[in-house]
Amino acid sequence: MHQLSDPIIALNGLGPKAQQKLNAIGIFNLEHLLFHLPTHYQDKTKLAKLNQVQVGDEALIQLTIERIKQVSTRRRQLLCYLSDSGHQGLLLRFFHFNQYQKQNFVRGDIIQCFGEIKISKNGLEMHHPEYRLISKGQTHLLEKTLSPIYALTANIHQAQMKKWIGIALETLQQSDLSDNFKNLANNSMPTLKQALNTLHHPKVNDNIEQIANFKHPSQQRLIIEELCAQRLSLLQLKDKRKSEKSNTFKIKSTLTKKILNALEFQLTQAQQRSIDEINSDLASNHPMLRLLQGDVGSGKTIVAVFACLQAIENGFQATIMAPTEILAAQHLQGFSNYLTPLGVNIAFLTGSQGAIQRTEQLEKINSGEAQIIIGTHALFQAQVIFDKLGLVIIDEQHKFGVHQRLSLVQKAHNTPHQLVMTATPIPRSLTMSAYADLDCSVIDELPPGRKPTKTIALGNDKKDKVIEKIKQICTTGNQVYWVCTLIEESEALRAESATNTHHYLQENLEELSVVLIHGKMHKDEKSTIMAQFSKGQIDVLVATTVIEVGVNVTNASLMVIENSERLGLAQLHQLRGRVGRGTDASICILMYQVPLSHSAFARLNTLRQTNDGFKIAQKDLELRGPGEILGTQQTGIANMKIANIVRDRYLLKQVHFYSKQFLKLSKDKQQALITRWITDDKSQYGNT
Ligand code: ADP
Ligand code: MG
Repeated sequence: MHQLSDPIIALNGLGPKAQQKLNAIGIFNLEHLLFHLPTHYQDKTKLAKLNQVQVGDEALIQLTIERIKQVSTRRRQLLCYLSDSGHQGLLLRFFHFNQYQKQNFVRGDIIQCFGEIKISKNGLEMHHPEYRLISKGQTHLLEKTLSPIYALTANIHQAQMKKWIGIALETLQQSDLSDNFKNLANNSMPTLKQALNTLHHPKVNDNIEQIANFKHPSQQRLIIEELCAQRLSLLQLKDKRKSEKSNTFKIKSTLTKKILNALEFQLTQAQQRSIDEINSDLASNHPMLRLLQGDVGSGKTIVAVFACLQAIENGFQATIMAPTEILAAQHLQGFSNYLTPLGVNIAFLTGSQGAIQRTEQLEKINSGEAQIIIGTHALFQAQVIFDKLGLVIIDEQHKFGVHQRLSLVQKAHNTPHQLVMTATPIPRSLTMSAYADLDCSVIDELPPGRKPTKTIALGNDKKDKVIEKIKQICTTGNQVYWVCTLIEESEALRAESATNTHHYLQENLEELSVVLIHGKMHKDEKSTIMAQFSKGQIDVLVATTVIEVGVNVTNASLMVIENSERLGLAQLHQLRGRVGRGTDASICILMYQVPLSHSAFARLNTLRQTNDGFKIAQKDLELRGPGEILGTQQTGIANMKIANIVRDRYLLKQVHFYSKQFLKLSKDKQQALITRWITDDKSQYGNT
């Protein structure tokens, strides 16, 4: 007899290879198998009638064999014609078969088969159904519960998975699976045992539609438990961090006052509030880990600059890491504008620098001469040795994984303070669950005077209209971005396509200066062009999506995005954020190729309806799910066994309620819950 805690290798027929595959998907012991829930079910509990089935249904059918035929036209096939007592027929088609199988089909015999109903000009068909021959006298060979279908992993078959999970379920019936929810109020929830039994083998009278929609009480119970486990684990991380020591900064205002006096604008309340929140973290002796969220153009940079100033005034270095070279260069420019007049020394490190320049920057970083270090992934490299790193700022969290973030933290002597900035606003309910280990500041207010960008969708064939609009905009002295969203695999092909668009625009806008920028160009050439565009020397900038993030030219007031249907909501919103930065009313034209898919239509429509990044993010979550948006690495949420934060967000209130109850329980009980659901920590099982 097995125990639920037995390693899976104890199962008959499960060898080291299968063990490895299952371990890779988080299954180490029998209990973990119980939580590998079916993705869907097959109904073999009743026989379907041929005149009632629909094409596309999976159905269990019992009929008489009429005729067997082997054909070898284009492809060798075995055809088996079946019929019921009426006049309905069904054709079974096999492309792979052997002689034994063929001989087994005997005219007049009864066969039971299960498969998807298809239709052809000959009528209804099934291809490669599961089947069994029914001998005379055998009547009811029906399943008592629905048959589960499990997600598989390489080289493991459905039948094996079913068998192993079946053994785990048998073991469950004689075991005591600790039920973490038993004594936590609400007793109307099914027990863990009930819930697992139901979900692996729903009874005929269970509400299958509820199960298909993840609304069945058995699922809700597991979802709530899993989300509680996730939340507790993140809160543990947070606790651990709060117990670590960091460098306490004394909040000073010598440098910040100088900057404030030189600014041509006033900080918004939201900016000031974020700065205060950050300062209070920096002044504590525990490491800060704060997420700074703000829509594109909300003014995150100055908030980051203020945090850096505190590091500098306390004798520490601060580093800012950006996901792309262009964005790093933008930060260099932005930070230099504010900081060079104050005499702050800034180092810059990217992957494309030459050896001499690189060595020079590395030395500046190592000696402590550089007070601020701006760069890309290059900052992770082993040769980068900081003198006294006190603050790490990461821009665009979702482009880096949590492990990369940590590797930078390890470059400091003492756990440094960390600020993570993101322009992808995340709905609050999600932040609390997905980022429960981070504190959060939100810049929920744009600088005054901004006018929302008017957004229009136009078919690609309306280029004439767009050309007219460009002429009109440029006569008033404003500038235009034309973004080519090309799906060519290589940057070389993308550049070629963009070149064609560039020619077209040059021909049709003879009196204007139309310049092309793309990723294949030398970086010096790119920065020259960007500088010219900033100075207003270029009217129309034709670009690939290299301008996606961070570019700031306030005089640009028209953005044209070609083939906008190919981009995701967040990317379109980021692109559109390049205009509407000044005080002039701006326009964004989303050109698209007909016919639009349903989801592309929904995306473009959302953009037409709102400029609010939080609303767009919510919509994006609904359309795409959290994994793609929040990234798979930095949180566990994309790898959950049953819960889906977006789909199940209506349960989050209960999750918070139960998490609170759990926090009152012993540490052991909390840990038991976490280890049940979060199995990525392979260390606890050894490396066997
Ligand atoms: P993002 O949040 O997208 O990084 P930036 O920090 O680049 O935004 O700021 C966008 C623009 O808004 C910049 O030109 C910046 O100078 C300007 N800005 C920032 N804060 C304010 C403010 N409080 N009032 C007016 N303009 C501001
Ligand atoms: Mg920015």
